[in-house]
Formats: sequence, structure tokens, C-alpha cells
Amino acid sequence: MNAFTDSLQRLLHSPHHQWLETLPRQLREFTDNPHGHFTKWQRILTQLPRFDAEQIQASPGDTVTVGPAALASDSDRARLRGLLMQLKPWRKGPFELFGLPINTEWRSDFKWQRLADHIGSLQGQQVLDVGCGSGYHLWRMLEAGATDAWGIDPGELFLTQFQAIKGYMPDSLARHAHFFPLGIEQMPPLQSFDTLFSMGVLYHRRSPLDFLQQLKNLLKPGGQLVLETIVVEGDENTVMIPGERYAKMRNVWFLPSAKALSRWLKRLGFSDVNIVDHNVTSLKEQRATEWMPGESLSDFLDPVNQNLTIEGYRAPIRAILTARR
Ligand code: SAH
Repeated sequence: MNAFTDSLQRLLHSPHHQWLETLPRQLREFTDNPHGHFTKWQRILTQLPRFDAEQIQASPGDTVTVGPAALASDSDRARLRGLLMQLKPWRKGPFELFGLPINTEWRSDFKWQRLADHIGSLQGQQVLDVGCGSGYHLWRMLEAGATDAWGIDPGELFLTQFQAIKGYMPDSLARHAHFFPLGIEQMPPLQSFDTLFSMGVLYHRRSPLDFLQQLKNLLKPGGQLVLETIVVEGDENTVMIPGERYAKMRNVWFLPSAKALSRWLKRLGFSDVNIVDHNVTSLKEQRATEWMPGESLSDFLDPVNQNLTIEGYRAPIRAILTARR
């Protein structure tokens, strides 16, 4: 619970105070029933080297960087590396801590660059990232001017990675970045966020329209949705449901075309629906690294024809749509 106290306090005086009707009980359930590895991961956090907080500076650019490197000795960096390596796989980043680069599986900065020019200013906004992973984009949202960046994700490893980074961030940023270990299905209809991001989650949902409706219920009237997902080529009526696996993933359900997705959003009552990006995922954006040594995109594609997945579907194309409630 302790890890969440400051964020709960912050909720009290925020437009999302209704969240306090359900959240404390959910967090208590979470902390009372820790997943086996979670306790081990949390112990790693307590062993991380500490540096003089007064001197710490952060620049949450393409590489979310905390430093300066000079605050850490080579042996501090080796220790930091050894401990953070125990929190593998590191999927979303990149980060750099006191001169130690964390080269994640995904260049999540590419996704941010694809959307940044299309979402308007986040200045002064309350933003929510549904399925925030390690929280990489939360730091980008604060960099872009958001007052508070809230993230939810059921991944306990991702929560731990977020806490590791947040623990080093200067107070001026740390106080405004929040992560709760929740799935979208646990969210009350707060109708309070100015901008809501959900990236890389829709295709994991068995009921994508219900999912989009849940996202809508979190936005205040006039609020903006930024949605990113895998799509297929096609018109308003094209939707693919893959067989057992898609790019080796078992939990992929609906892959609409960007036009079909746009229609879904309109049918649900969103306005100003725009397809702002359509992009074939490159092997530069998603690849194995020493921080994620398992299989990655190149293993999910047909070894002779990289335009196809290993199952013979079109290789992943991702689209970004914006819309207003
Ligand atoms: N948004 C990040 C991460 C995408 S990976 C990005 O675009 O880079 C997809 C994330 O969705 C994972 O971290 C996973 O834990 C999370 N997720 C899975 N089921 C979810 C659910 N029911 N509600 C919210 N997030 C979910």
C-alpha cells in the first residue's frame, strides 16, 4: 500500500477523487496477495544504490534519462546494472540511469514521435495511459506538459520497473507520475481525464467495442482519446480474427483495419475521429537486446519473407487514431 500512498493523496484533490471509492480496496487486495515473484522483485528495489537526491536531474526525452552520470561510480553502475538485470525482461524504453543505458526491446520513443505532433498540447492536463507497461510514455507525457500522468497496467513486473525509475526521478517529476496495478475492467467510469492513451492493448481485448466504451467513460466530455493498435489493410468492414496465434502471440483477438476502427469509434459516439498514423513495425523498433534476450519481432516473422508473420499473416502494421468524446 505504501508505494501508492502519495498517489492516493494526490487523487483526493484531483478531478478523479471518485476513484477513491474503489481503488483503495483493489490495492489492498493486490498487496495482500502478492504473486510469487513480486515479493522478490520488490526486494530488489530496496537494494538499489541511492544517490544524493539534491543533485539528481532528469531529462525525459527520447531516452528517459536520470543523472548526472558523475553521481555514480563505476562500481555503483555495475551494482545498478546487476540489480536491474534481475527485473528483465525490460520491454518498453529506452532509459538511462546515471550513465547506465537500459536498451529495451522496444524503441518506445518511435511510437511517441509518430503521435506527438497529432495530439495537441498536454499542458496542464490530467492524462491516463491504459496499459502503460513500464511507464515510459508517462514520463514523455509529463515532459509534454501534463500536470499528472496516471498509468494502469496489470503487469507486476512493469510496476516494479516503473518504481525503480520513479525512485530515481527528482521530486518535481516523481510526484506527478502514478501507476496502479489494474486492468481496464477494474476502472470506474470517472469521466475526468483530458487525454487518454491506450496503446498496444486493444488487440488483447476479447470485446474491443466494450473496451472502447470503457475508455470513453474515463474521458471527460470533449476529452481526447489516443488509440494505437495493430491493424490490417482494408476498408470499413475489414476485421481479422487470427487463428490460434498471431506473430506467436496467443492473446490476439480483433485486428480491424484503421478504417474499420474509425467506424467503431464513430458508432460509439466519438467525434473528430482521425487516423493520424499507419506504420509497418520495423526491426529497428522491436528487437531483442541484452535487456530482453528472448524472442522478438524477427523471430515472429517468416524467415524468408519479412512481409509475413511466421503464421503467414501480413506482418504487423500499427495505426494511431485520435478522437474526442
Ligand atoms: N502502452 C505501451 C505498452 C503496450 S504492451 C506501449 O504502447 O508501448 C500492452 C500492455 O497492456 C502490457 O503492458 C499489458 O500488461 C497491458 N494489459 C494487458 N491487459 C490489460 C488490461 N486488461 N488492462 C490494461 N492493460 C492491460
